[in-house]
Amino acid sequence: MSKIDIIGPWSGGQTGVGLRVNDPEADVADLLESWQPLCDDPRIIKKYGDQESGVCKGCVNNCCSTAYVIPDLIAFKKMAAFLKLDYQDFIAGYFDPEKVKRGILRMRPDPCIFLQDNICTVYPHRSLICRFYLCSDMEGDCEQLIYSLAWAGSAALQVFAEKNQLILPGKEAGLSSFDLMFKGLIEEYRHTPLVKLFLVAEDYSDIPLKPFLS
Ligand code: SF4
Ligand code: SF4
Repeated sequence: MSKIDIIGPWSGGQTGVGLRVNDPEADVADLLESWQPLCDDPRIIKKYGDQESGVCKGCVNNCCSTAYVIPDLIAFKKMAAFLKLDYQDFIAGYFDPEKVKRGILRMRPDPCIFLQDNICTVYPHRSLICRFYLCSDMEGDCEQLIYSLAWAGSAALQVFAEKNQLILPGKEAGLSSFDLMFKGLIEEYRHTPLVKLFLVAEDYSDIPLKPFLS
């Protein structure tokens, strides 16, 4: 039996993607391993995919073109290491300067700076928010788990960046409603114990899933 099973409408009684954690010791790396095949699983309808075909590969509406990505702390460190950049240079070259000066670590968008020829150039190191995004319906518990992980990870990056003076607390003037919503989520999560799990972890396999399960 796998540590985590993905379940869906094909199982009966479900309207969207859900999951079942079989092993109480499962970690975030285990979840990512189970989640990865969903992008190209034809049983999972992608609302914005080509003719709802169920596969992301070759999708003309590629969500990376418009994605709003604030990375989680683990991905931030992995991407900087992959690019052989220190954190300051990584932020200067790859993050939206207008958002950074307002205290938000949003990667350069429209399209995402890492998208080339419709392919993600940092794919093995991409953020949790990128790994989990599907334009598909999800069951409430599953969606909540994904949100908790992604926002705790992003809040951990915010805490790490402030502590290491990579960004300064920004003023809210000039922020869009989207920016304010994401900033609010980060503020909501930064005081939770979930953030500490990201701050002390070196990789996703160091982060247990259990505290994120409601
Ligand atoms: S998740 Fe993104 S890439 Fe996949 S079908 Fe939806 S819009 Fe296209
Ligand atoms: S990092 Fe990669 S997966 Fe994430 S939005 Fe950018 S191109 Fe897409």
